[in-house]
Amino acid sequence: MVKNRGTFVMRSIEDMFSKRLSSLYTEKEARELARICLQEVLSCSFSQLLMQSPLSLSDEQKSRIDNLLSRLTEGEPWQYVLGKADFCGLQFAVSPSVLIPRPETAELVEWIASDCVGKKVSVLDVGTGSGCIAVTLAHLLPLARVSAVDVSDEALVMAERNAADNKCAVSFSVFDVLKDSLPIDAVFDVIVSNPPYVCNSERSDMHINVLGFEPSLALFVPDEDPLLFYRSIAHLALLHLADGGRVFFEINERFGCQVQNLLLDLGFCEVQVRKDLEGKDRMVAARFNA
Ligand code: GLN
Repeated sequence: MVKNRGTFVMRSIEDMFSKRLSSLYTEKEARELARICLQEVLSCSFSQLLMQSPLSLSDEQKSRIDNLLSRLTEGEPWQYVLGKADFCGLQFAVSPSVLIPRPETAELVEWIASDCVGKKVSVLDVGTGSGCIAVTLAHLLPLARVSAVDVSDEALVMAERNAADNKCAVSFSVFDVLKDSLPIDAVFDVIVSNPPYVCNSERSDMHINVLGFEPSLALFVPDEDPLLFYRSIAHLALLHLADGGRVFFEINERFGCQVQNLLLDLGFCEVQVRKDLEGKDRMVAARFNA
């Protein structure tokens, strides 16, 4: 039987990706990246790509593929190369001014959404970055009123665009949680944050994709004070959580106990540490009773 001749073009692009990306990616990952780039250049879905692979690429399409591939060979994450990332079934524009949304953050969002479903909660996301947490919560909880803050103006531009693209109402403002205070009458039922939590000393374990391209501002904390942001946000929460309100944090897997103790010492109750799908301590929630 004669196979779809188009698959030949796809295979040859995959072969080129797997050869040129061999020092950075496994064979399987490189082939996956080839398919992602082909879908982008041909503006088609994965199944369309499989069913109707093109018999050849135009010169313009070839040069776009070359351009994407050369950025990937530099170690740039594919989400920055394409300017977008999927998160909880939504699409987010991303650039090196914001972290690429991670699967573990999706788990945190799912935890909050399942606890708040059907409730008219007010939510604050501290350090929103791309807006992935705030926008997804606004999408999943249509009754919620969602606010989000970030220290970076560039991140806020991206987050605002993502709220608009996903047709979600989120109110954004610039805010430095280490320095600024919120209006005295601001009250929230949920305060959530995925703050910087990677210690500077952990840099050497990180992939070039992350270290060379993602914003250090969103990632790193000093080794001497890894809970810096949790302490500030917990203090903010003591002032601005409604009675019975909750904080939700994404955490460094090394600091589950320390974050738990910090919250207990500040008087929070029902402190829970949860593991992510990889079995690592990754999320903490706690309640504040006045
Ligand atoms: N989970 C991210 C990483 O491993 C870090 C996110 C953060 O610092 N908040 O790179």
